[in-house]
Amino acid sequence: MTSRDAPTYERQEKEADSDVAPGVYRFGTNRVNWYVVEAEGELIVIDAGLPNHWEQLLDGLDGLGYSLENIAALVLTHGHGDHIGFANQLQQTANVPVLVHTADVALVEGDGEENMIELVRNLWRPAVIRLLIEFSRSGGTPSPLPSVGSFGTGTDLELPVELQVIHVPGHSTGSCALYLPDRNVLFCGDALATVDLKTGTTRGPQIMSMFNNNTEQAFESLDQLESLGEVTLLPGHGEPWRGEMEEAIHRARSK
Ligand SMILES: [Zn+2]
Repeated sequence: MTSRDAPTYERQEKEADSDVAPGVYRFGTNRVNWYVVEAEGELIVIDAGLPNHWEQLLDGLDGLGYSLENIAALVLTHGHGDHIGFANQLQQTANVPVLVHTADVALVEGDGEENMIELVRNLWRPAVIRLLIEFSRSGGTPSPLPSVGSFGTGTDLELPVELQVIHVPGHSTGSCALYLPDRNVLFCGDALATVDLKTGTTRGPQIMSMFNNNTEQAFESLDQLESLGEVTLLPGHGEPWRGEMEEAIHRARSK
C-alpha cells in the first residue's frame, strides 16, 4: 500500500474545504483542525495539522483557485506536533514565513518537550488509541523547523488582514488565540477545544484534557478572551462553535 492509499484523513472530501466563516476554510480531520484565511487575494494558514495533511493543502489550494505562492504566512497558535505538521515542508518548498509566539519557538525548532503524562496515563482508552493511530498514519512526528519567526504578546502581525495575537499560556507557554476582527473569528488553538480527545466526547467549549503544560494557568488565561463578544470559535480540536465568548468560557469552567 502506498502512502497515497493510506486513510490520512477521515472527513469527507466535500467537507474538507468547507468554509466555516466568510473566507475561512477548515481542513484536517474530525480530530485535528487547521484553517486557511482569504485576505485581499492572499492566504494565511493557521496551524499546519499533521505532516501528511500537506496533500490536503495542495488539493485545497487547487480547489480554491490559489497556489502556494499566494500564502503570505503560516501562523501557529502554538508549537505542539499536531499543529506544526507540514510547516517545515511549506517553509522549504515555498519559502513561506512561519510565525509562533517567542515562548514556543523551542518547541517548533525541536528543542522543547510536550507534556505527555496524561496521554500515557490514558493509553488504555479507545479514543486515545484512535488518536495515536491517526497521528502515526498521518506522518507521525513532524520535522522541526531550522528556524522560525516569532512574535511577542500583543504584537501586530504584518499580514494582509488584521490578526490580533492574544497570549493565553497554559496549554503551552506560548499558546496564543488569534482573533480576526473583520469576521469575528477566534482561532483559539488548544486554549479551548470542542472535543475531549481523551474520551472522544463532544460537549462544547472545554479546556484540553491532555497535553497541557499548566492546566490551572490555562483556566486563568480564559479571562483574556472574555470580552470578545460573539464569535465563531475555531479550535485546534473539534467542531466550530458559535456564540458569546462569555458563554464559551462559562461552559469550559463548569466542566
Ligand atoms: Zn496542543
